[in-house]
Amino acid sequence: MFCEKCGSQISDNSTFCGNCGASMNNAAAPSYAPHPRPAAPSYTPPPPNYIPATPNNHPVYSHAAPNSRPGYAASGYPGAGQEMSVGQWMITLLIMAIPIAGLVMMFVWAFGSGAPVSKRNFSRASLIFAAIGVGLYLILMIAGVSMMGAMMDSMFY
Ligand SMILES: [Zn+2]
Repeated sequence: MFCEKCGSQISDNSTFCGNCGASMNNAAAPSYAPHPRPAAPSYTPPPPNYIPATPNNHPVYSHAAPNSRPGYAASGYPGAGQEMSVGQWMITLLIMAIPIAGLVMMFVWAFGSGAPVSKRNFSRASLIFAAIGVGLYLILMIAGVSMMGAMMDSMFY
């Protein structure tokens, strides 16, 4: 580069003119200052672009959260979220086939918190049907006994 005061050629690295002794800091400082200034405005626009970008990303996250929330909502019980394999169902049905232990286990599965949701709901549905069956059986028995009693009474009188 050339000295601004005397015009003599000096090296770019020198901080002062070798001919007249003028300091090159004055020339160097303004040349450095303009560089950060254009850089700063170019940096400030991106944040506005990034801020709209994050709202776009947030819906993605909020969409992902509802997907995970049903799993969390279903996992209110400790055993929830577990999937029952075919083998586990076969073992479950085998245990249910055992006369008394099966019934006890169904109550444990239906009202306990350790069984998976599917097994718990299945046990509850089975117990409801069993209760309906027992209820119908008792009603028929009582009706039958009362009818028998009525027939016996009618026979005696
Ligand atoms: Zn000079």
